[in-house]
Amino acid sequence: MVDPPRWHVTCFYCFFRIESGRLPSLRHEIKEWMTSNEIKGLVLVAPEGINGTVSGSSEAISALKAFVRQVTGVEEIHFKDSESHVRPFRRASVDIRSEIVGMKRPDLVPDSPENHHLTPEQWHRMLDSDHPPVVIDTRNRYETLTGKFKGAIDPGLKSFSEWGDYLEQAELPRDETILIYCTGGIRCEKAILEMRTRGFDKVYQLRDGILGYLAEYPEGYFEGDCFVFDDRVALDGHLQPTDRFGICPGCGLTSGDRRECESCGRPYYVCTECAPTWPAACSKVCRDRLAQAAKRSANRR
Ligand SMILES: [Zn+2]
Ligand SMILES: [Zn+2]
Repeated sequence: MVDPPRWHVTCFYCFFRIESGRLPSLRHEIKEWMTSNEIKGLVLVAPEGINGTVSGSSEAISALKAFVRQVTGVEEIHFKDSESHVRPFRRASVDIRSEIVGMKRPDLVPDSPENHHLTPEQWHRMLDSDHPPVVIDTRNRYETLTGKFKGAIDPGLKSFSEWGDYLEQAELPRDETILIYCTGGIRCEKAILEMRTRGFDKVYQLRDGILGYLAEYPEGYFEGDCFVFDDRVALDGHLQPTDRFGICPGCGLTSGDRRECESCGRPYYVCTECAPTWPAACSKVCRDRLAQAAKRSANRR
């Protein structure tokens, strides 16, 4: 018997205009609501809309969906759900930003929900053909490391703000169909606009991203694990947290090198860059404990 999952997680976004003056009160309203419903996670609000990933009980997550639709006035929001035995978030945070997706292009905002989307089924069928189209992963390098769609081009971005520069140099065909995707779909909403301003008209984006695809095709064309921005780190094809990857305590990047903490005994993952200098500790707290213990035993000698 498998224990029922303890946390229900949902990820959502919505582009709609918010007056800058309303942001602080909106932030407060969302934060209060999350706290009183015991919802944890991170929600971003910006003049262009709202974006969040949150966790809580199944009842609280249902109530949250109704709350988000009410507070935005938008019915057409896709929520990408998953479940977890691992606690995804420790806190409830609502941050005001200049954009809900960090591209440094607040001017690029989709003006309609119809933005060249493919449903997971349409996407799957296109990859299933004998001559699949060009597929580009719009995520960052530390995300593509844990997995990506079969045959997808990885532009090797350090941050999403490099997307424009990538398109500039990449020499992609402007007359061919190009498919783009990201984790939950939000980055592609902007990536596709950037492509259109550069003359790419036959570009399509995966609606709801990898998370939406895996919900329908757990054993389809996505290979490896899907990186997520919370304590679950990466999800397998069945949207379950995997233990193949973790966050390096030295630098915060993804790593697959699993070790055991000499202080608390818990497993942790260290990246190749930090490995030579980082002590055998799962966190800064355990690193400091190890250092103190070493000092004490040196003093005793
Ligand atoms: Zn590191
Ligand atoms: Zn430890």
